[in-house]
Amino acid sequence: MKTGFRRNMTHTMQVRVSLAVAVALLLSSCGGRTGPASRHTVAMNTYVTVTVYDEPEGVDALLDSAVREIARVEQLASDYSDTTEIGRVNAAAGRGRVPVSPELAALVGRGLTVGREHASAFNIAVGPLVHRWDFLAEPPKVPRPATVDSLLRLTDLSRVNLDSGGVRLELPGMRLDLGGIAKGYAVDRAMEVLRRGGVRRALVDIGGNLGVLWEGTSALDSVAATIRVRHPRREGEFLGSFPVGTAGVSTSGDYQRFFMSEGVRYHHILDPSTGYPARGVVAVTVVAPDAETADIASTLAFVLGPERGMQMLRATPGLDGLFVLEEGNSLVLRLSPGMAARFVREDARD
Ligand code: AMP
Ligand code: MG
Repeated sequence: MKTGFRRNMTHTMQVRVSLAVAVALLLSSCGGRTGPASRHTVAMNTYVTVTVYDEPEGVDALLDSAVREIARVEQLASDYSDTTEIGRVNAAAGRGRVPVSPELAALVGRGLTVGREHASAFNIAVGPLVHRWDFLAEPPKVPRPATVDSLLRLTDLSRVNLDSGGVRLELPGMRLDLGGIAKGYAVDRAMEVLRRGGVRRALVDIGGNLGVLWEGTSALDSVAATIRVRHPRREGEFLGSFPVGTAGVSTSGDYQRFFMSEGVRYHHILDPSTGYPARGVVAVTVVAPDAETADIASTLAFVLGPERGMQMLRATPGLDGLFVLEEGNSLVLRLSPGMAARFVREDARD
């Protein structure tokens, strides 16, 4: 619905999210203020921006706390080092149970729950494959089919044990990878820090995983931001935009981390049933009540594909989204009903 969308406001601020999948244009009603306060940093292997649009007491300290909170979640959930909590779990694969904090246990538990419901699409035990594909390697290489096959055995979710004592990966070589969920969780945690500090209007962006907090004082205030959806093949162009209030927004796309080999695109979202990049979707953007839910749902929808993915969006209260598909040389959009009601297309040249 575009009705609450306040294009005609006197004070508008544009926020361009660096290297992000979507761009938010936040409309502020705080006339006479000096403008938003922001922090830019790098964490969780990507760019982070935290912006506060109102100005509570001590906004600088609050921004610092929000950034520290993201670094704290990184220490819990990033798997690239064996000093993080998840890194220690992975380093002990095949050996025994590793005690973990209740917070990490809960995050892993939520990942496992989604994985058990959609075993062939969302799998936090996909780590050995992600590690072998190594999309950041220079130069990256397509693994041999036999290697992929042998690694698939190590992604069996039923061999991941989570209980009050910690996490145990039964087989040597298993690895948990929270890449499809942790950035969204970190966005929510950082937002909670801001909210507890009295902030009512903010944007947190971790590599295109967005959290928008917009507590309006009237119905008109309920629409905060326009999310512009990037053209997945043309830098600087956009497919369209949609308004959101307080929400999480996440995009999973085949252009975010990929390499080309012999004309084929290999990207970072793997189909856990084949061990190869999931085919059939170029990008999915999902809006959800919070950023973690959006993060999980965009990865899941990408792998499920347009039919089953759309069914999942429609069946889950609070979710909306859009799929970008490639048909021949052109891109085709498929929108969930709630998204169709508010998406505004831009003139793309295809
Ligand atoms: P996202 O960018 O949120 O869609 O998540 C992609 C990241 O999640 C990858 O970089 C991997 O770390 C991890 N991942 C890849 N494939 C899957 C999958 N099928 N299920 C869960 N996580 C995955
Ligand atoms: Mg995700």
